[in-house]
Amino acid sequence: MTIENKLSSYHKRRDFTKTKEPIGKKQKISKQPIFVIQKHNARQLHYDFRLEIGKVLKSWAVPKGPSKDPKEKRLAIETDDHPLEYAQFEGKIPEGQYGAGTVKIFDYGTYENIKTRDGKLVPIKKCLRDGKIEVYLNGRRIKGSYVLIRFGENKKNWLLKKMKDKE
Ligand code: MN
Repeated sequence: MTIENKLSSYHKRRDFTKTKEPIGKKQKISKQPIFVIQKHNARQLHYDFRLEIGKVLKSWAVPKGPSKDPKEKRLAIETDDHPLEYAQFEGKIPEGQYGAGTVKIFDYGTYENIKTRDGKLVPIKKCLRDGKIEVYLNGRRIKGSYVLIRFGENKKNWLLKKMKDKE
């Protein structure tokens, strides 16, 4: 799938003459894959958790935001793929536009895929397909391992949970 295809839903929902959100051109931002967590004060406050996978930001809306407590599971609803440049986006999405409200970067950084099977690293795209992602987030606020697990009938529902580690 091309980036244009992956971003078609993102593009369709937005009028770029009205919103300052990026259209997206870049296919790479840093050597390491990046992540971002954006606090999105929209109709309902939530946190958008995004991981660079396959030249776009795979995205989940986390109503309660990530927890640092391994005992806490957080619902994460898969949303549209976003362009990589979105990781730097902060500001106001105007009234009448999709996601109207304010976006603030809560944390950002790079991540490392840590999912292994039989001692071998499982490629992140396979993790996404399989519905089990394990990443080490190297953020400014958050440093530690998180797991995302898809569950239930609806393919969009995932759980986000901190893994037990020294952090
Ligand atoms: Mn959002």
